[in-house]
Amino acid sequence: MIDFLFLDEGLCFSCKKERVYKYKLCKDCLDKLDYIGNKFDLSGNTCYSLYFYNDFMKRLIADYKFSRNTSLKEVFSDMIYRFLVDKNLTDFDYILASPSSKKTVNKRGFDHINLIVDDFSNKLGIRKLDEFKKIKNTKSQHTLNRLERGENLKGAFKLDKDIKGSRILLIDDLITTGNTALEIIKELKYMGASEVVTLAICSESSIN
Ligand SMILES: [Zn+2]
Repeated sequence: MIDFLFLDEGLCFSCKKERVYKYKLCKDCLDKLDYIGNKFDLSGNTCYSLYFYNDFMKRLIADYKFSRNTSLKEVFSDMIYRFLVDKNLTDFDYILASPSSKKTVNKRGFDHINLIVDDFSNKLGIRKLDEFKKIKNTKSQHTLNRLERGENLKGAFKLDKDIKGSRILLIDDLITTGNTALEIIKELKYMGASEVVTLAICSESSIN
């Protein structure tokens, strides 16, 4: 049994067939990733996205989020961790996992971004900003028009902590319009954060 478990650890976390090559994925699965390592601006705030949201990435995220293959947190955590270290993006006071509402977490069974951040924040020695919470159940942003989107997120977040002058790294899985990230950034800056850098695992082509 022990031997079996040991062997299993060396297999790709996605296809579970080939041996791990990088980010807990095999070479075949890695080849299906579309790396962009994109840096862009969101209303004066720096954002990064690592991969294009292609079919493989869609499946990988769905497998993690909806099929609850929670071991995939290590794949995403590894991708983010290595990117941050490579780009020397480690000078932050806090890391914030883009918050999901309690209702979403209960329905899903776990807080998917939070698990990823848990996995690498310790390695970087940066504290998580757990005090920032989503207190309103919002609708999916993509079902709404621009005006409704702003309205939808108003008063959605709450923070019980003094973060004056802090540099914060915001982590999300997918950035589409950037609307949700921007709402969180605005809130953090209103609370006194001096800088907020966003890093998303992937993005759609529209924002690049
Ligand atoms: Zn694989």
